Order: sequence, then C-alpha cells, then structure tokens
Amino acid sequence: MTSRHLVYLGLGTNLGDRLNNLERARILIQERIGPVRIQSSVYQTEPWGLKDQPEFYNQVLLLETGLAPPEVILDVILHIEKEMGRIRHLKWDRRLIDIDILFFDREVLQLDRLTIPHPLMEKRNFVLAPLAEIAPDFLHPVLEKTIRELAQTSTDLLKAEILAS
Ligand code: ATP
Ligand code: CA
Ligand code: CA
Repeated sequence: MTSRHLVYLGLGTNLGDRLNNLERARILIQERIGPVRIQSSVYQTEPWGLKDQPEFYNQVLLLETGLAPPEVILDVILHIEKEMGRIRHLKWDRRLIDIDILFFDREVLQLDRLTIPHPLMEKRNFVLAPLAEIAPDFLHPVLEKTIRELAQTSTDLLKAEILAS
C-alpha cells in the first residue's frame, strides 16, 4: 500500500482569465498529484511585494497524494506552470499561474530549491486568509502557531477578500 500524504498548495494568478486559470490548474493538479479533499473560496487580493500590477485571485487546496518526497511534487507543479504558459518576469511580478507548496504533512525541509513550510506565509494575507478558511487549527511546524493565530496576528495590511460571486 502506498502511504498517503496531505499537501496544502497555494495558487495565485493575475493575468488572463483568472478563474479559468485556477480551474485549469486544479484539474491538472488532481490528475497528476492526487484528489483535492478541500478547496478554499477564491480570494481577490492586492498584489504583495511588487505593487504596480493587477489584483490576484488566490486559492488554497488540500490534496491527498501518494507522491513523495515533496521534490517530486515541486517538479510536477513547475511543469504545470510551464505547460499553462507561465512566463517568468521579475520575482513576485504578474503571472498566469503560480503554485506553491505550503505544507507537506508536518514536514520541515530546507533544500536549495525547496523550502517547506513555504517561507513568508505568515506575512501574506493572500495565503493566510484562504488557509484559515480551510485549516484554522493546522499547526505551523516551525512557528508552532495555528493558522488561525497567524491570521489574527498578521501585520500585512493588504486586502484579501472572498471573491463576490
Ligand atoms: P515566493 O516563493 O516568494 O512566493 P514566487 O512564487 O514568485 O515567490 P517562483 O518564481 O514561482 O517564486 O519560484 C522560484 C523557486 O522557488 C521555484 O523554482 C522553486 O525551486 C522554489 N521554491 C522553494 N520552496 C518552494 C515551495 N515550497 N513551493 C514552490 N516553490 C518553491
Ligand atoms: Ca508564490
Ligand atoms: Ca512559486
């Protein structure tokens, strides 16, 4: 029997048809990584880091996967980003799709090309708001605080609100 892992992925897009980009990414993720168990609402968020760009749509997914170690998942998500047509500009600049590994079970990993938990999430409402919706009691394995606590104490002032349907 393959062991199952729980992975949280953070998705973001601010170019083209943003809802469609999220949906397409979710379908490819399900096909290649594993079933989505919970998905957050879609959040409309102010750009973080580099201001002069369109607002983002962000979403967090909880997946179950047999893929391991997490480097394998990184390869899959980078491939999906490329296949969907992501062109890299500056760091934190506009993008068709960005997929980050937020957590892999409660593992802590520090490699050249992969850091888990994903760095800076505690400073980003665009990650904390959707994550707090689906996993308020998840304990961040490094900061040793729940997502609810991190969201409540976030010093980020940027807007992250559920997209009006
Ligand atoms: P940030 O990582 O600050 O959100 P970004 O998403 O804009 O910035 P990218 O250009 O998408 O950055 O990714 C750069 C590299 O980050 C990737 O090629 C990957 O090797 C590395 N990386 C490190 N940790 C992670 C992680 N947890 N999830 C995804 N990529 C990661
Ligand atoms: Ca990112
Ligand atoms: Ca990324």
